[in-house]
Amino acid sequence: MSLGYVAPSGGRAGDGDPGAPGAPGAPGAPGGLGVRCEGVVHLYRTFEGHDVVALQGVDLEIDAGERVAFLGPSGSGKSTLLALLGGIQRPSAGRIFLGDEEVSRMGERYLARLRARRVSTMLQGASRNLLTYATARQNLGFARLALSARERREVLPEEELLRMVGLAQQLDQVVATMSGGQRQRLALACAASTGPQLLLADEPTSQLSHEDRDHVLTLLHRLGDDLGTTVVVVTHQPEVAATFPRTVTMKGGRVGAEGRDGSEYAVVGAEGVLHLPSHLAAEWPAGTLVRIEPEERRLVVSRPEDHS
Ligand code: ADP
Ligand code: MG
Repeated sequence: MSLGYVAPSGGRAGDGDPGAPGAPGAPGAPGGLGVRCEGVVHLYRTFEGHDVVALQGVDLEIDAGERVAFLGPSGSGKSTLLALLGGIQRPSAGRIFLGDEEVSRMGERYLARLRARRVSTMLQGASRNLLTYATARQNLGFARLALSARERREVLPEEELLRMVGLAQQLDQVVATMSGGQRQRLALACAASTGPQLLLADEPTSQLSHEDRDHVLTLLHRLGDDLGTTVVVVTHQPEVAATFPRTVTMKGGRVGAEGRDGSEYAVVGAEGVLHLPSHLAAEWPAGTLVRIEPEERRLVVSRPEDHS
């Protein structure tokens, strides 16, 4: 069975409609939407008036159709980066591209249409994504409001989507009466329900049993298989990350490491910053003096005997 999302033939062309046929990554265009970050910095201003640096120079490219898991300790900037990729927040500095288009050059209306149809974000904390006084069916209807009548006929029916996440019995249940795990699965079903080209999900399985987690992973990967959707998840669960061919590990607001096809790589950041792999960090505490000697295709990092 396919998630069934076919190109709409209508749509206003040429006026900057993000759903217009021929627009980069318009619905029905083959494949997903790629994203690129160049020197992305994000600050939050607190009530006390000082700035918290959540991201300090993120360079990252995710190809159309790629599936990536974001890892990293709490506070390392994963949720901030995801919200920026989803066009929900705008970066303090740096550039973010969705396909060929730079987010900061998009108007609010354009961005809103993009989020409603092509870029779905499931924020951390399932209830933030849902209307809690409404039923599961009504939430799915709301998530798909921006689709044309024709698009709506071509996406998966509500019953089918809910069945895929193990919520077949909850179709007419009000969200307020659902468990945390049920809300999490419904929030993901809503995000997936438009057949997006880019799906971003922040800890979509943190409250789920093994069985429900597998349901959710099946749905995520099915989007990728059937529609070519680019899928990015934040997770703390190694079993979830293991189903993704690429991992990006955030550290202190930067991309610290990447895993591809089972190999781990450290990533040289802005100003030449390099994070030690976490299993080594304890033995090389901050402030340790090291000597760095380049050799052909290698850097030898050593600690002089008398400074250890
Ligand atoms: P993660 O998802 O990896 O836990 P976040 O992106 O949520 O990281 O947070 C990164 C940093 O930004 C943390 O220091 C966090 O305290 C701070 N932060 C996140 N959201 C806000 C906010 N709304 N206001 C102030 N600081 C924030
Ligand atoms: Mg987070």
